[in-house]
Amino acid sequence: VKFVYDFTEGNKELKDLLGGKGANLAEMTNLGLPVPPGFTITTEACKVYLDSGDEPAALRDEVSAHLSALEKTMGKKLGQADDPLLVSVRSGAKFSMPGMMDTVLNIGLSDKSVQGLAKQSGDDRFAWDSYRRLIQMFGKTVLGVDGELFEDALDKAKETKKVTVDTDLDAAELKKLVTKFKKIVKSEAGRDFPQDPREQMDLAIHAVFDSWNTDRAKLYRRQERIPGDLGTAVNVCSMVFGNLGPDSGTGVAFTRDPASGQQGVYGDYLQNAQGEDVVAGIRNTVPLADLEQIDKKSYDQLMQIMETLETHYKDLCDIEFTIERGQLWMLQTRVGKRTAGAAFRIATQLVDQGLIDEAEALQRVNGAQLAQLMFPRFDEDAKVEQLGRGIAASPGAAVGKAVFDSYTAIKWSRSGEKVILIRRETNPDDLDGMIAAEGILTSRGGKTSHAAVVARGMGKTCVCGAEDLEVDTKRRRLTVNGHVVEEGDVVSIDGSTGKVYLGEVPVVPSPVVEYFEGRMHAGADDADELVKAVHRIMAYADRVRRLRVRANADNAEDALRARRFGAQGIGLCRTEHMFLGERRELVEHLILADTDEERENALKELLPLQKRDFIELFEAMDGLPVTVRLLDPPLHEFLPDITELSVRVALAESRKDHNENDLRLLQAVHRLHEQNPMLGLRGVRLGLVIPGLFTMQVRAIAEAAAERKNAKGDPRAEIMIPLVGTVQELEIVREEAEQVIADVERTTGVALKLALGTMIELPRAALTAGQIAEAAEFFSFGTNDLTQTVWGFSRDDVEASFFTAYLEKGIFGVSPFETIDKDGVGKLVRDAVAAGRATRPDLKLGVCGEHGGDPESVHFFHEVGLDYVSCSPFRIPVARLEAGRAAS
Ligand code: PEP
Ligand code: MG
Repeated sequence: VKFVYDFTEGNKELKDLLGGKGANLAEMTNLGLPVPPGFTITTEACKVYLDSGDEPAALRDEVSAHLSALEKTMGKKLGQADDPLLVSVRSGAKFSMPGMMDTVLNIGLSDKSVQGLAKQSGDDRFAWDSYRRLIQMFGKTVLGVDGELFEDALDKAKETKKVTVDTDLDAAELKKLVTKFKKIVKSEAGRDFPQDPREQMDLAIHAVFDSWNTDRAKLYRRQERIPGDLGTAVNVCSMVFGNLGPDSGTGVAFTRDPASGQQGVYGDYLQNAQGEDVVAGIRNTVPLADLEQIDKKSYDQLMQIMETLETHYKDLCDIEFTIERGQLWMLQTRVGKRTAGAAFRIATQLVDQGLIDEAEALQRVNGAQLAQLMFPRFDEDAKVEQLGRGIAASPGAAVGKAVFDSYTAIKWSRSGEKVILIRRETNPDDLDGMIAAEGILTSRGGKTSHAAVVARGMGKTCVCGAEDLEVDTKRRRLTVNGHVVEEGDVVSIDGSTGKVYLGEVPVVPSPVVEYFEGRMHAGADDADELVKAVHRIMAYADRVRRLRVRANADNAEDALRARRFGAQGIGLCRTEHMFLGERRELVEHLILADTDEERENALKELLPLQKRDFIELFEAMDGLPVTVRLLDPPLHEFLPDITELSVRVALAESRKDHNENDLRLLQAVHRLHEQNPMLGLRGVRLGLVIPGLFTMQVRAIAEAAAERKNAKGDPRAEIMIPLVGTVQELEIVREEAEQVIADVERTTGVALKLALGTMIELPRAALTAGQIAEAAEFFSFGTNDLTQTVWGFSRDDVEASFFTAYLEKGIFGVSPFETIDKDGVGKLVRDAVAAGRATRPDLKLGVCGEHGGDPESVHFFHEVGLDYVSCSPFRIPVARLEAGRAAS
């Protein structure tokens, strides 16, 4: 195998092997754009290194060969004393992991070659500044020296000279700083800073490999669901310098606004600066448009290149570039991250420009982004006290208590507080705190600062670069225009406008929700651009999707909302929800009944109430299927808490105040108490042991359907039996149900077509699906219980107990209660689909567990051939979109 590729050898399709950065550098090179020459070491080499602890045997020679070729192209040798070739060694994985892994610049400088660089550039200051940067970066990332030590030494040098920015330090001071830095390396790392350029390069390559497995990189991957075994590529690239004076600089650019999708000139530029200075937000940048004044030739060339890139990639690109003495160089491009709203707008703009088709547009957005657009926003009419304004870096409306460090953010959020993490600027060590916070606020850095980039990726609200805010992390407070905000004070931040408020600002629904609710019309002339884009994308999705989307809803109000959101029926009506509140007492009567007569009376009281519920539901869903599930949960859920009741009875006893009812209740609670209620008397088992319960429910459904028909309605009820493990259970219930239905048909004179089916939510049901299909007209996979029983995880307990440890250890990347476990639970679903259809080819198949609204799971259900997914009303648009994406 080949472990090293020259930039001229790769292309953008090779991201697995060359990483995103390497693949795109190659693509740009082959497009003829000005990319400094270099080569990429593959992710395969990284994997070998990480698995075996050593680089592959062939790597050294391959690197030597590519280095020689590079030296030939550049006409100078790495670290050559009188005129050194310098290189950067940069990480670059398949998926972008901003700031998570290492990069070392200026490799090749040494005590000798720094002189050569000074002579060649005619700039002493520049040469020594580059050398001190190398020792600093190399010391920190390769040799593991605490970066603060270098920062402190730099700060001290600035203090001594009474200057505020590093560009004001002259060559002599930087030279002193180099000596100081070398001392720090020696004492902290126990070795000298290596003078041999090739040794520098090899150590840096290994450090980049190793950085794949730092804690913060692992955490980021779990967050972003990036597999842990991909490894990173390493790019060795000849250096170009943005810090050679005012005719040099470095910047970032977007071909469109990543926040709105608008076309135009977006980006930041920093004169006389190198590499990561822009992203790190160390000095203040100027808007990219200002480059036109600073260096018109480079600006025009950059605009040209941006157009080339956008037409070539057919998408928003972001770019890193450097200008070295008036010569423009492209250091990186990639399809850029964008806000959720911009994703929808850009996708439709690109369709209008004829760059992509509708199927491709669907792939450019996703359900998570749509879900984000459905978040509420701040109420514009609310009375507010504005503290300041920063850059709108990642949209949303976030309210929380001010905290000034990640540790507090995590601690407070664990105890249920909502927090806003406020920092001068964030760095990769803040990742945990950013995850824990509702939103992030920084006083420095632009749209491409760490805080902005990472928050956008996470879908977290972020305002950055709010320069009026003086953030004092040591004293845990911020001051702005005479206001002091202490730790714990509530602030509100608006990631769509950049505004920062004191106190809690009320929120209003998003326009996208208003649109789904039918209160805003996409066709109106003044309709929001975003709403128009969402409307179009949803129409594409609905046109191509095969999966139907139903709602889990138990009352008319939810059903009507679901319908507005596009539900094509109800996939799960949990009737137990209809027995709560005032009706609980009636259920109590049923459970306490000693005689048939008492029980029948209790059921008789419940029947009309149930019937009314169903009439309302069928009316709300007129013309669409409504799957009503018979009672499922353990009966004791309808009874008082055992401890409370015991205390009440004991107190009454001590007052010699007997309450006959409480005593009977307590006995019943004891009798029905189960150690493991989830595996106890529930579901179909209730129907089999409590005479009349299920038949009462079936009668209520049938009579409600008959009444709707008489009222010229179109009820389409389906009766669903929960927690079936064997076909025998189903057969018994089915027979009784059929008798009741026949009876209702006879007495009302209305013909009812009521389908009878079952949930598949126990492993045994899935394993014997072929038999169960004999007695079922439909299956609905209850993936909540199926996950619980297949894994043996209590669905009510484990997420709060050991799941965090499981996630940390990487046993799974996401809870199997959230995203379907394809290999285990999913295998049962797949097999049960096949077995069920083999028995009954027209078997209707759906899913009504929480997974029905989870984007990744929807793709799985599409693939295994279900007919529909059912989810909570709010997730219906997401399910529609993902079903469309799965089919296109
Ligand atoms: C399920 O188990 O997946 C299901 C939908 O039923 P419930 O959540 O009500 O147990
Ligand atoms: Mg269930």
